[in-house]
Amino acid sequence: MCTDPDPDTFVYMNFMKTHCCYDAIPTSSKLVIFDTTLQVKKAFFALVANGVRAAPLWDSKLQSFVGMLTITDFINILHRYYKSPLVQIYELEEHKIETWREIYLEYSVKSLISITPDASLFEAIYSLLKNKIHRLPVIDPESGNVLHILTHKRILKFLHIFGSMIPKPRFLQRRMCEVAIGTFRQVATVQESASVYDALTIFVERRVSALPVVNEEGKVVALYSRFDVINLAAQKNYNNLNMTMREVIDSRACCVEGVLKCYGHETLETVIDRIAQAEVHRLVLVDLDDVVRGIVSLSDLLQALVLTPAGIDALFS
Ligand code: ADP
Ligand code: ADP
Ligand code: AMP
Repeated sequence: MCTDPDPDTFVYMNFMKTHCCYDAIPTSSKLVIFDTTLQVKKAFFALVANGVRAAPLWDSKLQSFVGMLTITDFINILHRYYKSPLVQIYELEEHKIETWREIYLEYSVKSLISITPDASLFEAIYSLLKNKIHRLPVIDPESGNVLHILTHKRILKFLHIFGSMIPKPRFLQRRMCEVAIGTFRQVATVQESASVYDALTIFVERRVSALPVVNEEGKVVALYSRFDVINLAAQKNYNNLNMTMREVIDSRACCVEGVLKCYGHETLETVIDRIAQAEVHRLVLVDLDDVVRGIVSLSDLLQALVLTPAGIDALFS
C-alpha cells in the first residue's frame, strides 16, 4: 500500500527553494576585502579591527576573487608554525596571503566557492554543507561584486523570522531525543586544563567548529569556538599557546554568557528558537548532570529541515 508522505515534511525545503539568496541579504552590512599581497598578520589584525569573521580575497593580477580568508586559516597557520613561547612565528610575521595559499591549497579547497543572488537558499545551504565551509560569498554575475557573505546563521535567522508566517509543521513538537538531529558520537571536547595548542590541534584534526570545554567529571564548563581563536590576535598573545583553556576562557572578551545548551527532552521548536535568538552556531546537548552528550549545530538543523526531505545527505557524504 502506498501512503502519501506527510506534507509537513517538505515545508522548510519548499520555503528555501522558493526564496533566493538576495532575499536573505541585509540592506546594509560591512564587507572587508583583502588583496592577496597583504601580509597574513595584517589581514588577521584587520579582521579584528573591523569586527568581521572572514574576507574575500582579491587577486589583482587575475582581477578576480580567488578565495576566502577565515579564522580557520589563522588556526591553521598558528598550529603549523608555532614552536614555543620564546620563538616568534616567522611565517605569521612575514608571509603574504598569497604565500600562505600556495602552501595551504595543496591540501584544501582550491578555488572560491560562491553563489549568485538569484540562486535559491536551498542551493546556498547545499553548497555550505557539501563543501564544509561556513562563509558563502554572494557575487553579482554582472558586476562581479561581492554583495554579502551568507552564513548558516543568516539563513536560519531568515527562516526563523519569515518562516513564522507559514503554518508550523507538527514535527517541531517532537523531542530532540526522538528526532536525533545532531552529533552524538565521538563528540570532540577539550579539558579545561589542556593548552590552547591542544585545542588548536583538535580543531585542525577533527575539523569541528567548536569544542565544549569540560572539567574532570566531563561536565561542560565553557565553549571554545573557532571564532574565539581570533582573540589571540586581538590580545596579541598568539605567541604563547601553552596557556591553559581555563586561562584563555577567563581572559576572553566574551559576548556570550555561560554555555548555551539543550536537553534531549526539549522540543525541536524550543531548540530552534534558542539557537536563533542567541545567534550562535550550535548548542551543546547535555544530560541533567551537565555531561556532554552531543552537539546540535546549525549544519545539523539545516540538513534535517531542508536537505533530508529532498533526499540529500550533504553533511555526512
Ligand atoms: P570559519 O568557520 O573559520 O569561518 P570556514 O569553515 O568557512 O571557516 O573555512 C574553512 C576553510 O575553507 C578555510 O581555509 C577557508 O579559507 C576556506 N573557505 C571558506 N569559505 C570559502 C569559500 N566560499 N570558497 C573557498 N574557500 C573557502
Ligand atoms: P560564528 O559566527 O563564527 O559561527 P560562533 O557562533 O561559533 O561564531 O561563536 C560566536 C561566539 O559565541 C563565540 O564567542 C563563541 O564562544 C560563542 N558561542 C557559540 N556557541 C556557543 C554556545 N553554545 N554556548 C556559549 N557560547 C557560544
Ligand atoms: P559545524 O562545523 O558546526 O557547522 O558542524 C558540522 C558537523 O560537525 C555537524 O554534524 C556537527 O554536529 C558536527 N560537530 C560540530 N562540533 C562538533 C564537536 N565538537 N564534536 C563532534 N562533532 C561536532
